[in-house]
Amino acid sequence: MAKPRVSVVIPVYNEEAVLPALFARLYPALDALGTPYEIVFVNDGSSDKSAALLREQFQKRPDVTRVVLFNGNFGQHMAIMAGFEQVRGERVVTLDADLQNPPEEIGNLLAKMDEGHDYVGSIRRMRQDVAWRRWASKAMNRLRERLTHIHMTDQGCMLRAYDRAIVDAIRSSREVSTYIPALAYSFSRNPTEIEVAHEERHAGESKYSLYRLIRLNFDLVTGFSVVPLQLFSLFGILVSILSVIVYVVVIVKRVVLGESYGLEVIWDRDILEFFLIGVQLFGLGLIGEYVGRIYQQVRERPRYLIQAILEKTE
Ligand code: UDP
Ligand code: MG
Repeated sequence: MAKPRVSVVIPVYNEEAVLPALFARLYPALDALGTPYEIVFVNDGSSDKSAALLREQFQKRPDVTRVVLFNGNFGQHMAIMAGFEQVRGERVVTLDADLQNPPEEIGNLLAKMDEGHDYVGSIRRMRQDVAWRRWASKAMNRLRERLTHIHMTDQGCMLRAYDRAIVDAIRSSREVSTYIPALAYSFSRNPTEIEVAHEERHAGESKYSLYRLIRLNFDLVTGFSVVPLQLFSLFGILVSILSVIVYVVVIVKRVVLGESYGLEVIWDRDILEFFLIGVQLFGLGLIGEYVGRIYQQVRERPRYLIQAILEKTE
């Protein structure tokens, strides 16, 4: 087997419904490229038949297929990380298993790399999502970009190609909860993006609930920026200055003008208190986000456990 030039990494979590269709499209698309390739599937502790299907596929195409089997569910990004530990190609492409990113687009990503880019992201053309989801992700995207200086037009799109050097940098960072495309972007020298087709999830269900989406965005922001903490303390300073000013105004009014109540007309203390309590809780939660990460990091537990690796031995 020739040393692969391109490695494709695909995280798989309970995707039995879609895997046959994925195999049917992925292999021909890669064969058509005419470059030596390998596909590294990482089974993220699926509880359905995914592992068995991957094993079967490995037996069918052992020359280009490798399978990493996790011992449990460690999340999409840890699965990609484990794939990165295994890849042998000079270029690495990540892809979702659910065929939302057409495998036929891989060639276009690689062509863009030929122009000298070490990171090629992708933007889904005509996203097939509902309006509120589109709007929400756009707003979140803009906020994230301001906070982290990571430019990704479509942060939800995993179809991306990375140069070997970036993958090596990612491998050497020991982060426990991370967002691979953002990490990759921060290591890239000459990043770019292209538009790719986007399809509905071919079969099965999304593994991300609204809650997991919110968690993911926290990972993205707090994992790459301390601006939220800084903003928070800035806000605290502003509020304190403001309250001093208000206090002075009230005292002056009372003493000099002899007014018994001054600002009460525009100043509802209950509402203000509610607001400030809300701000305090938010700040506490925010600190918790960072402390939680530090806690996870210092425990230095293994980030994932591999049960077995299926690959052809030379
Ligand atoms: N995935 C994974 N582990 C998880 C959740 C998801 O490996 O805990 C994989 C999943 O099999 C798929 C990809 O990550 O290949 C993206 O998941 P999904 O399509 O459910 O996310 P969505 O497209 O809805 O954001
Ligand atoms: Mg999907």
